[in-house]
Amino acid sequence: MSFTSPHLAALAPYTPGEQPAIEGLVKLNTNENPYPPSPRVLAAIEGAARAGLQLYPDPESRVLRGAIGRHHGVAADHVFVGNGSDEVLALAFDAFFLHGDLPLLLPDVSYSFYQSVCRWLDVAVRRVPLDDGLRVDLAAFEATRGEAVAGMVIANPNAPTGIALPLDALERLAQVHPQRVLLVDEAYVDFGADSATALVARHPNVLVVQTLSKSRALAGLRVGWAIGQPPLVEALTRVKNSFNAYPLDRLAQAGATAAFEDQAYFARQRDAVVHCREGLLLQMEDLGFAVLPSQANFVFARHPAHDAAQLAAALRARKVLVRHFAQPRIDQYLRISVGTPAQCEQLLQAMAACLQG
Ligand SMILES: *Cc1c(COP(=O)(O)O)cnc(C)c1O
Repeated sequence: MSFTSPHLAALAPYTPGEQPAIEGLVKLNTNENPYPPSPRVLAAIEGAARAGLQLYPDPESRVLRGAIGRHHGVAADHVFVGNGSDEVLALAFDAFFLHGDLPLLLPDVSYSFYQSVCRWLDVAVRRVPLDDGLRVDLAAFEATRGEAVAGMVIANPNAPTGIALPLDALERLAQVHPQRVLLVDEAYVDFGADSATALVARHPNVLVVQTLSKSRALAGLRVGWAIGQPPLVEALTRVKNSFNAYPLDRLAQAGATAAFEDQAYFARQRDAVVHCREGLLLQMEDLGFAVLPSQANFVFARHPAHDAAQLAAALRARKVLVRHFAQPRIDQYLRISVGTPAQCEQLLQAMAACLQG
């Protein structure tokens, strides 16, 4: 006998990177920002905590959506917000990709949470292989023109490869199935890629999802958003209000709004991460790694002479945590978040020792 709904057996829940409480650990496994958020964010959260927690938050998050809209140069009716971009993604899959048996097109190597949501909502998936350079294969997507599909999702830059498509390629993708939504997950876009938000005015099927978790150092606050034309935002709101009318609490709305008001702080720590990434890439190449070109806050690399899973375990023994995916095509790669210069130095020293050992 089982108490669960029958479909639970078919779920494939996402496995987040571990968050172990080990003293002195260099944690480079979940692409968090190595720097704390802006002091203005903390002040805004403190203020919100003192004012009105007995009251429900604004279910429409109007102030925050206004701030996000100004940041992107769109009106607030083009902005949807949720409790982390994972929630925005899940609501978007429900709103746009349930079309009977028609498949959602996804790159074969991408953010694995998409697959978890598809299993949960029972969306069929068609995997479109990355090319031999582990790049999103634009031609392979274009070859599906005229076929009946549920929609398309890509992460740009892609995860876990870090490789980005340029804006003209994104625009071509938007035109492959103009009657379906193209969802572009831009969790890492601030670290060097072009944003598809530039396409939203011209393409009613483009929905762009971003997050405060990576470039704005607020993974703990859980705020993500989508940018799209108002009919897409209205559809997302309809699903949201069928699930949870208040996904963002007062602290999150206040802190997230402040994050958009401190552009100087944001630019400084973003530039620090990008600078460190470029140095790390060169030094890893000196150690013999093949490193993919990254537009994100992580690098994806393999060593021709060392097994990736063993290397990850050896690094862990030296208190450096990186991410290994036991998945076809990428099981010889490590995904390594870019930390502070001191963390990158510790990583490189531990790597050098592991490669000798
Ligand atoms: C980290 C990440 C997310 C999740 O972001 P949250 O806003 O923290 O839920 C979404 N997509 C990709 C590709 C990510 O790497």
